[in-house]
Amino acid sequence: MIRGTTELVAIVGSPIAQVKSPRNFNAWFERHGKDLAMIPIDLDGQSLDGFVDALRAWRNLRGCVVTVPYKQAIATRVDTLSPRSQALGCVNVIRREADGTLTGDIVDGDGFMNAARRHGFVPKGARVLLIGAGGVGSAIAWSLCEHGAASIVLTDLDASRVERLRALLATHHAATDTGTRAGARLGSLAPFDLVVNASPAGMAGYDELPVSPDGLATLRADTLVADVVTSPEATRFLELARQAGCRVQTGAEMALAQLGNLGAFMHVTPLDI
Ligand code: NAD
Repeated sequence: MIRGTTELVAIVGSPIAQVKSPRNFNAWFERHGKDLAMIPIDLDGQSLDGFVDALRAWRNLRGCVVTVPYKQAIATRVDTLSPRSQALGCVNVIRREADGTLTGDIVDGDGFMNAARRHGFVPKGARVLLIGAGGVGSAIAWSLCEHGAASIVLTDLDASRVERLRALLATHHAATDTGTRAGARLGSLAPFDLVVNASPAGMAGYDELPVSPDGLATLRADTLVADVVTSPEATRFLELARQAGCRVQTGAEMALAQLGNLGAFMHVTPLDI
């Protein structure tokens, strides 16, 4: 029940009907007797400036989750960015401070790491193959570096994105060895402890395998194979990895494992929910 006293958080994107956060947050608020609610906002991109101004003025709003396609555009409009948001040029959550200023962060990588740890993945010293060097791939790569990954090999259909991310990681996380591979020449996957599809390949309407079946046949059984795609939940990539005997992590697990990070950043849930 939303009352006059209820404090709000929001999630903004376009389209918005597919997002799971309102259901997940509102269920948690209700279960814990909190006078809080999350509302979804399908925003016309022409109104971004006015929207961000309204967030500053909105006194009963604690914060706002930001999703596609506004993660980059909103990052340029808030007042303060976390160091990782600053480097990646991206936010997926903003908090409204008591004085009305807005602070942004990107916690996609934290969600990924939370979910991977639940599968027994140890990031320190890990060798990683990351397919997709866009927004989510960059956030995951950043977190893997923060947690001591030994090496990350990057690949993407767009070579300029790979090079940009490689250079960024080399500047900020020199302790992690970063390499690149052209998609057609991925070769054996046996050296990797973690293989992540951080591209949309495999989502409904883009039925593509991020790695060829020949490549998947070279996976070690103790490799964790993860996908960021949430629909379908079990992608063909993950099915093939499972058949190869690997542990698999779905995009839905990553999204769910991020709830506490989003909620804690907006000061509406504990980190560990
Ligand atoms: P983006 O457009 O910023 O980046 C996607 C990248 O993938 C691009 O660089 C593109 O060139 C590359 N790519 C596309 N097809 C490829 C292929 N076949 N092989 C290699 N690279 C390929 O998008 P994004 O914001 O990073 O989102 C990527 C996916 O992550 C989307 O499907 C999105 O729905 C999903 N996502 C999941 C979560 C989660 O919590 N599970 C969170 C956010 C986004």
